Amino acid sequence: MSENAIEIKGLKKVYKGRHGSPDKLALKGIDLNIPQGSMFGLLGPNGAGKSTTINILAGLVNKTEGSAKIWGFDIDENPRNARANIGIVPQELMFDAFFTPREMLEVQAGMYGVPPEERRTEDLLKAVHLLPQADAYSRTLSGGMKRRLLVAKAMVHNPPILVLDEPTAGVDIELRQQLWDYVRELHARGTTIVLTTHYLEEAEELCDTIAIINHGELVACEPTKQLLKRVDEKQVIIELTEKLTAVPEALSAFSTELLEDNRLAVKINQANANVGQVLAAVQDAGLTILDISTQETDLEDIFLQLTSSKNKDGQEAA
Ligand code: ADP
Ligand code: MG
Repeated sequence: MSENAIEIKGLKKVYKGRHGSPDKLALKGIDLNIPQGSMFGLLGPNGAGKSTTINILAGLVNKTEGSAKIWGFDIDENPRNARANIGIVPQELMFDAFFTPREMLEVQAGMYGVPPEERRTEDLLKAVHLLPQADAYSRTLSGGMKRRLLVAKAMVHNPPILVLDEPTAGVDIELRQQLWDYVRELHARGTTIVLTTHYLEEAEELCDTIAIINHGELVACEPTKQLLKRVDEKQVIIELTEKLTAVPEALSAFSTELLEDNRLAVKINQANANVGQVLAAVQDAGLTILDISTQETDLEDIFLQLTSSKNKDGQEAA
């Protein structure tokens, strides 16, 4: 058994165009490992391919190419075991409106072959704060309640991985907090959590690792802390009186780039260096500063930087 909860290799998806509309390349060959025990965020703008990825894992969408393993089980070679090890809360709230929450969890448990004496219907309803609604028709539940019911439904077979696709859509703040409390509790007990979101702050607050996808491509995957470190980066642009042919020796300690013969771009990580040190180094090199400007980055900038790259094959971002 590998130490990854999920392993995705070269995953591609083409949605065939219908009624004369063109095919849509939704995933362009994604490689992604999600470590066991992580709280993993799959972040990306609408249309990036998050749900497509999740739905392939869930067996709801057929992939075009590539492979995926869930808890070590290949989704093609061992679909039953793969499915037994994952619980998925889909983005769309799909319901049989005439079942009560209690019935829905019982039916789901039956589908996963959980014997009646091992079912945890009552506990699950309690965990998602739906005991008072246990016997109400599901169609009478609010959006937030439905979402929480789907979380309970995803957990009936007690899988080691729980995936939540855009879980906070339509959930009000207070109930969102309850949802996160429950998810954090599951995580603390060892469940690997994967959530997709297009909200940066949500991923930042909850996830220990963040992958960013855009136009069906993975553009970043790193520990949240590391991603946030880039936020501490500042770029200083220095315009000089002198013309240079190379980066001066005195600046080699910094990440420096010669933009034009009289313009330098210096990246400084504010934890390690400051603008004063850079300016001192420039003076040490015997250079004269004509002008200087600084640019700070925040996570929003990084996200935009990573997701605003041109759409290479000219397809529309939906
Ligand atoms: P996300 O969940 O990141 O918002 P999706 O995975 O839902 O993105 O969609 C990725 C791309 O695939 C989008 O361009 C979307 O329009 C397209 N797409 C999704 N589902 C279908 C489908 N059933 N048929 C055709 N295109 C689809
Ligand atoms: Mg989606």
